Amino acid sequence: MKSIPTFCRVCEPSCALIAQVTDGTVTRLQPDKAHPVSQGFACHKGLNYLAIHQDPDRLDQPLARQGSRRPGEGQWQPRDWDSVVTDIGATLSQIHEQYGPDAIGGYIGNPSAFNALGSQAIGDFFMAMGSRRIFNSGTQDCANKFAAGEAVFGTSTLHPLPDIERTDCLLIFGENPKISHMSFISIADPMAKIRSACQRGAKVFYINPRQIESASPKTGDVVQILPDTDLYLMAALIHEIDALGRFDERVIRDHGSRIEDLRSFIAPYSADAVASVVGLGADAIRSLADTFSGANRASVHMSTGVNMGQHGTLCYWLLQMLSFVTGNLDRPGGNFYSEGFYPAAKAGRARLDNVFFPSQHGEMRHIRGALAGNLLPDMILDDDNPIRALVVIAGNPLLSVGGEARWRQALEKLDLLIVIDLFRNATGEYAHYLLPSADMLERPDLNICGLGMQYQPYVQYTDAVVTPAGQRREEWWILSRLLQAMALHAPMLEQDPPQPFARLDHMLSRSGLCVDALAQQPSGTAVLDTQSIGRFYTDFIQTDDKRVDCCPPLFADALTLADQQFQALKQAAPAFRLINLRTNYMHNSWYQNVPTLKRGANASNSLHMHPADIESMGIQDGDAVEASNEYGRVQVGVRSDSSLRPGVVAMTHGWGNRQTPGMRVAQQHPGVNINALLPNGPGSYEKLSNQAFMSGVPVSIQPVTSVADRDASTKPEL
Ligand code: SF4
Repeated sequence: MKSIPTFCRVCEPSCALIAQVTDGTVTRLQPDKAHPVSQGFACHKGLNYLAIHQDPDRLDQPLARQGSRRPGEGQWQPRDWDSVVTDIGATLSQIHEQYGPDAIGGYIGNPSAFNALGSQAIGDFFMAMGSRRIFNSGTQDCANKFAAGEAVFGTSTLHPLPDIERTDCLLIFGENPKISHMSFISIADPMAKIRSACQRGAKVFYINPRQIESASPKTGDVVQILPDTDLYLMAALIHEIDALGRFDERVIRDHGSRIEDLRSFIAPYSADAVASVVGLGADAIRSLADTFSGANRASVHMSTGVNMGQHGTLCYWLLQMLSFVTGNLDRPGGNFYSEGFYPAAKAGRARLDNVFFPSQHGEMRHIRGALAGNLLPDMILDDDNPIRALVVIAGNPLLSVGGEARWRQALEKLDLLIVIDLFRNATGEYAHYLLPSADMLERPDLNICGLGMQYQPYVQYTDAVVTPAGQRREEWWILSRLLQAMALHAPMLEQDPPQPFARLDHMLSRSGLCVDALAQQPSGTAVLDTQSIGRFYTDFIQTDDKRVDCCPPLFADALTLADQQFQALKQAAPAFRLINLRTNYMHNSWYQNVPTLKRGANASNSLHMHPADIESMGIQDGDAVEASNEYGRVQVGVRSDSSLRPGVVAMTHGWGNRQTPGMRVAQQHPGVNINALLPNGPGSYEKLSNQAFMSGVPVSIQPVTSVADRDASTKPEL
């Protein structure tokens, strides 16, 4: 048996692991106790990844579809790589020639962000193709941060992290670190750091519609806000801090611009004005503003619960303002940028003139090269030059983007759907070709995902722990072969033998490193001694004038809309608002086929509801209800959950595998696709960032017994 150091690529901490390998088979994953950064931390999801690696339903060879392309229909014919690449290349070339590059689209799923060579090859592939119709999962959970970073700091890749170990007060908006392990900050075991901060007297507040698992007497308190009203709470906090005279005028004068425009926006949002909309008492808001601005060192963070609302970009802007105007940006105990092995802040520099362009789906923009995922079905179904071929790489948009019914129509209409994945997932059920990819234990890699967002900067290289089984291949190789089949330039295969790490070696050279040298280090890791604090306003910020833009003009329309929506919320609030519930048993649509995680209460997803709401509807825990809105309807079991506010309901996403026979466990435990209740198409996403509206969505809830009495013509779609 061999013990091989590697690292997890399920989420951002990239925790170091030891893989035990016997006779070429991985038999166990354990935390790497000797790793200098993660120090033996790895979570339940990372260790359970072994079940995905070993899953008997994984794809082992290329498959071509014959006959019907409806889920579960047609035949899958095994193919060899040479013939399948030749066939796909010929069809892509024909579509490219006949309809132009924009007739070929791409959807890139979240696992690609954790695949250093794969993400590089994806860039090469679509650049060579010349298509501008690229979509990715970022527009489901984080595109707002890129958009706000560009507008406020001049770059999409500058995201100041909270200095948890030195802070005296930490505000965490829309994140549950105990479950999700934090996003846009790469940090192993964040709860240990939060716990020790609280032990030395720091105040930690989780602003969240749920009494989340992260909160406890030893780890901080929940401020239980109404869903998707964070913008107004943030505005009120800044308003009250200004009223207390606690803006740091010297920092603002030296490093800010347009502060009066910020003051003008927050002027109407006093604690008294927002209290009823955000669902908190005005005194509680003033007290929070006082505690935060009165702390010697205060820091902020926000994540998907806020990103996925109506105003994710504006929220991320005001989050930065909370830090900046109080003088807590770029100081110990406040927020700081963490430079890694390569100067990534500069790489994300963006110009903001003419970001929008006209289209038949309305004005739109690219965010880091990607269009709004919510527009993809429209570009297949209702477009003058529709997308005819779609390449899906490590993604499952059918279950991860809003509007399931529209997605099914769109996928069925495609002339060519190529899915590169570990599994024949729900999206793959519509594919013409399924191409089997190597997984994280079957490929060499570099932990590039956390670059610029690591609490402790370091870089780790891993070899493939085992060789890919069957005909599985790495994504970079598959995409490069497809380019060659189209007679296009494939940079990663141009040398003989191929040197796929050449560009990463070039990046590593900025820190005096290379892959070969890293491979010789214990755990393949070099810890970087980067001093980042004190360099924000000189080295990292990328605005032309090197100043923080306190109220970017690009936001003007969005600010007007936010004001209008505030007035509407004051008049009438929805009866129920739907939020997303993250658990230890799913991770987006990963883990849907892991039998050990489909037991007891986790064998399906439920609609979580406050006990008072259940009682007022005259139903009981476990009864079926119908959740519906203008976008769709689902029937689902209800689960009593006193952690929610009354009027707030929550469900876990990534479920809905009734028509996914290629994943047998998932199909036995299909659950319900929450995204059937989410909007799709023009108007269903934040124009500034392409971020889909996925949280705080109004829904109606009815007992299924009432639904049964309804007109048969409105039979619910399951
Ligand atoms: S926290 Fe994320 S990276 Fe770490 S072991 Fe868990 S899933 Fe993997």
